[in-house]
Amino acid sequence: MRLSDRVQQLSESATMAVTGRAKALQASGVDVISFGAGQPDFVTPRHIVLAAQKALDEGHTGYAVPPSGLAATKQAVCDKLRSRNNLEYDPSQIIITVGGKEALFLAFLAMLNEGDEVIVPAPYWVSFPEQISLAGGRAVVVNGEERHGFRITPGQLGDAITERTRAVVLNYPANPTGHSYSPAQLRELADVLAGRDIIVLADEMYDQLIYGEHEHVSWATLSEETYGKTLTLNAVSKTYAMTGWRLGYAAGPTDLIKAMAKLQSQSTNGTVNFCQHGLVAALNGDQECVEEMRLEYDQRRKIMYAGLCALDGVSCVEPAGAFYCFPNMSATYARLGVRTSVEFAEKLLEEGHVAVVPGLAFGNDLHVRLSYAVTEERIREGLSRLGKFIGA
Ligand code: PLP
Repeated sequence: MRLSDRVQQLSESATMAVTGRAKALQASGVDVISFGAGQPDFVTPRHIVLAAQKALDEGHTGYAVPPSGLAATKQAVCDKLRSRNNLEYDPSQIIITVGGKEALFLAFLAMLNEGDEVIVPAPYWVSFPEQISLAGGRAVVVNGEERHGFRITPGQLGDAITERTRAVVLNYPANPTGHSYSPAQLRELADVLAGRDIIVLADEMYDQLIYGEHEHVSWATLSEETYGKTLTLNAVSKTYAMTGWRLGYAAGPTDLIKAMAKLQSQSTNGTVNFCQHGLVAALNGDQECVEEMRLEYDQRRKIMYAGLCALDGVSCVEPAGAFYCFPNMSATYARLGVRTSVEFAEKLLEEGHVAVVPGLAFGNDLHVRLSYAVTEERIREGLSRLGKFIGA
């Protein structure tokens, strides 16, 4: 079969590859502790499920009209953004998408011409560079350093800008590191972009999963200028344990939203009608379920972070949000006889029966990602296996 150049340049999702190998081992009877998956281990809260079931019973089984989202869904998103993100949007500035992933993809397709550059801080979520190149753009990677808590500095951002820069992707709390930015650090980055024709894609998928003294400040709230040049992206996937429902959203300048809706109407035709009723229930309903899950993640975060820091030769930045730790394992590579994060992850899976995602997938080969969307008991057991494996 002759396939397009476009698809041949695309990498397979490394996160999915590790999960697949771990599942195969499990199927053969091996007890694998999987820290690989990037999704909650909870099921969707009951009131959300019931709302979608009711919509099905009531016959909401046709196309959602318009494809960009039902009026009630867009209104629920506006209300959420106002009450929890301090952001005022009109429903005409909202698009409902097939997960956060489609929102990002449509945005790149709508904004980029061949060769346009998008600044992507690393470690990055795996799909950013791939989606950018699929849309004809070029990802310009800026390395957030471990000693700076993986945050990019204003100097790094300024140095990466060229006359071809069209956008910057800012994901915080971040996947895979869990790092975030303080309001002052965000303002410093905004100062670098001030007066330039550059759009920020603010990926705030984990905005409600933030811990300790950290607070989440939405990029678009920083100033009138950032508001006008930001596409705020989110989803109910992580916050409400709804990854399989495929419900995301974006809010921003009307012309960009309209362009994304045009692309969507000719491709996926938008997200599932009755699922959108679940989104309304999630955003408008009781938020206690979110707090319960957040507290549980926080507890697990503390256990995993402390456990990793206690291992000889391992360093780890304390995650502020999301549900991942991104420890530096490179000091153990030589004694294990491995050279890369991929070799490390493979050996750990085969010999230690613990699944992690190699950092290479996120643009950093010294680290691996562990998800703590896993029970406390499994975290403790996994850490103990990891310790034995690296001889710490
Ligand atoms: N952005 C980030 C930073 C993510 O971690 C993910 C999912 O892992 C997504 C976007 C996509 O989310 P969704 O599952 O809603 O498509």
